[in-house]
Amino acid sequence: MQDRPRHRRRRLALALGWAGALAVGVIAGGSLALGGGHAAWWLLPFLPLLALHPLMDRPGGVPVLMYHSVSSEPGWLPWADTISLRPEAFERQLRILRSRGHAPISLGHLVESRRTGGALPARPVVVTLDDGYLDNWVAAWPLLRRYRVPATVFVSLDFIEPDERPRPNLDDIDAGRATADDLRWAGYLNRGEIARLVDEGLVDIQAHGTDHGRVEIGPEECDVVGPTNWRRLAWVQWRAMEGAKWGWHRTDEPVAAPYGTAVRRNEPALAARRWTPRGVETAREWEERLRGVLRRCREELATLTGNTVRFFCWPEHGVTRQTHEIAIEEGFEATCGGDLGENRPGDDPTFVGRVHSGERILGFSMDWADDLLFHAKLRTHQGCYYWFVPLLAGHLCARWMRSRRSRP
Ligand SMILES: [Zn+2]
Repeated sequence: MQDRPRHRRRRLALALGWAGALAVGVIAGGSLALGGGHAAWWLLPFLPLLALHPLMDRPGGVPVLMYHSVSSEPGWLPWADTISLRPEAFERQLRILRSRGHAPISLGHLVESRRTGGALPARPVVVTLDDGYLDNWVAAWPLLRRYRVPATVFVSLDFIEPDERPRPNLDDIDAGRATADDLRWAGYLNRGEIARLVDEGLVDIQAHGTDHGRVEIGPEECDVVGPTNWRRLAWVQWRAMEGAKWGWHRTDEPVAAPYGTAVRRNEPALAARRWTPRGVETAREWEERLRGVLRRCREELATLTGNTVRFFCWPEHGVTRQTHEIAIEEGFEATCGGDLGENRPGDDPTFVGRVHSGERILGFSMDWADDLLFHAKLRTHQGCYYWFVPLLAGHLCARWMRSRRSRP
């Protein structure tokens, strides 16, 4: 939340400063060497790099990775491009988490150690998955268990499917109980799958709100629901659906808000005051709405899982200092955003910053580069900013690829 600019600015300034000092050292040292001076002289321009080292390597950060969908067939999700990765890519990342000195820990372990000052292993990292998609059971769970990586899955109550029977997953294929044709990828976790995940113990289920909604914040129209955009504007359907929303994607046409429905200026529901033709809700009404969502999550998820619900993940990272404090008042131990924070000992221990993890980081498929940049992302957020230099180069490359693609 509040740490985003600070952490990002420091990483950027240090990485650019270090790269600049290195470039100056190479040029000046090379010139001295070519000039025929004493052999030791050409090392002199590199001395600033030694002075920068304590700032470039500051262990103590904990990357909290944010995944959503892990799927071979994510096409049913209108936003699959940005939030889904293939099971093969997820497995490669888990393999890296179990090698190169990284130590996967649970979200609970991280929050407890920050609160109590308890020690963490070297190079800690936390895995989280948002939205509670069915593929978390089908593909992510068997892989997490295979690599013994703990994870937290954040579910939204209205999207939990009611069935009690777990559907086939990759474990069933390995055991010969199912074939690839038996796998279903579209949809959300059902009650039976959540119960099995809880029983197994490696994955914990935490709160991601009730409806993953947005609210309109003013009368200005910015879109209209139509045949080409109604899936992308799914929140408009969700808002018009009373209660359960998990089946919204199973129809060819919108089920609740028909074509022609006006879409007005909007924001994530929990952090903004709702506008209706009668006016904008008062601060008190907004707070009551937020507290109602937080309480419903704590109560209903606790009933479903049999465990205390400890963490709240803000849908679409819609969080402010005030919403965070209200969630803590309502009994959550910590809340999670997506602000790239490093979760250092000096940061607010009740707020967890997270970093998105996907694949094709460069904008095209190149497994070794993806693996290198994934490791670079982990090391950067663990506090080793040398790795921010290749990471920055990777981001610039991805941005360039995107601009090339969007050119007419
Ligand atoms: Zn979400």
